[in-house]
Amino acid sequence: MKPFGYLRVSSVEEAVRAAGEHPGARFLAGGTNLVDLMKLGVVEPRTLIDVTRLPLDRIEELPDGGVRIGAMVRNSDLAASVPVRERYPVLSQSLLAGASGQLRNTATTGGNLLQRTRCLYFQDTSKPCNKRLPGTGCPAREGVHRDLAVLGHSQHCVATQPSDMAVALAALDATVHLHGPDGERSVPATDFHRLPADHPEQDTVIRPGELLTAVQLPPVATGTRSRYRKARDRASYAFALVSVGAVLDVRDGVVRRAALAFGGLAHRPWRARAAEEVLQGAPATEETFARAAEAELAAARPLRDNGFKVPLARNLAVGVLTDLADPETADPAAPGPARPA
Ligand SMILES: Cc1cc2nc3c(=O)[nH]c(=O)nc-3n(C[C@H](O)[C@H](O)[C@H](O)COP(=O)(O)OP(=O)(O)OC[C@H]3O[C@@H](n4cnc5c(N)ncnc54)[C@H](O)[C@@H]3O)c2cc1C
Ligand code: SF4
Repeated sequence: MKPFGYLRVSSVEEAVRAAGEHPGARFLAGGTNLVDLMKLGVVEPRTLIDVTRLPLDRIEELPDGGVRIGAMVRNSDLAASVPVRERYPVLSQSLLAGASGQLRNTATTGGNLLQRTRCLYFQDTSKPCNKRLPGTGCPAREGVHRDLAVLGHSQHCVATQPSDMAVALAALDATVHLHGPDGERSVPATDFHRLPADHPEQDTVIRPGELLTAVQLPPVATGTRSRYRKARDRASYAFALVSVGAVLDVRDGVVRRAALAFGGLAHRPWRARAAEEVLQGAPATEETFARAAEAELAAARPLRDNGFKVPLARNLAVGVLTDLADPETADPAAPGPARPA
């Protein structure tokens, strides 16, 4: 590992100023991704700006019924929060489906959203990779890509976005709050992560020196249910092959509102707008859910070894929507002791 400077900041303004004064600096939150990548030589910051003491560790209930989550809130605390488990089970379930108990105790909301792809070539500095070193090529296209993208990829990168929480936030229409040298701004969670296009080195729309300060959840309508389900190679401690975050409001057997997002399929959480169009106002039946999933996945362009993700995504989506439409199905995140999804 190359030598690096370290400084700790105690306010958002100080953090943003420090990032401006130290070109090549990185914010250090839980460190569960950044420090691993530094040990591998994938990222080599000249300075680490420790943001763990910033006063951004609160989960606040807002007057409009929404919830604001500080960037330093730990994944375990967020998953266990009663307002989140009661009103946004998809978010609690997505967090509990990720990593391990120890990692979730350390990992933060901001760091989780900004974690880097798990593409093997990205993490191996002996290999070319457009995301790590722009212009060097994408060996994953012809190489090992079973875990990688089937939607929205480009000739320059076929990586997937690894955060489970990001998928839930996309389905929930959350907002990401940022603070940078030019002041504060907000970005819809659905637009926060990018598709790779010609610039796979940019995972998100965050600008140099910008600090992620909070994530805001809008209020949910009474009667709305939500759920997260993840298919992976092992039952725990594994990233998604495919995941689904869904929010559904069914009245008298008809879909009043549906929001659906896929994980593990693309360089960003994939909000399934074509599927939502099919669902809106349609009978809440398995046949409708299958038609909706198929409408979305018609755009898939699988690589040599990852075509299995398309039927997997279809079946996962149909299963989640069918469960949500059935009032008899128990909610895995309902208040009671928190347990792994
Ligand atoms: C073995 C293992 C298994 C895992 N499995 C899963 C899984 O199944 N699902 C899943 O979703 N995740 C999984 N993870 C990833 C884990 O959730 C992330 O490592 C973690 O969420 C990152 O959070 P952190 O606070 O440690 O971020 P850090 O490692 O501190 O930071 C990550 C990145 O975010 C930047 N950053 C951090 N905070 C801010 C901020 N406020 N503003 C701007 N930039 C910021 C850092 O500079 C860095 O680039 C796994 C990790 C490991 C090691
Ligand atoms: S898929 Fe993206 S991250 Fe993986 S090797 Fe290609 S360019 Fe690099």
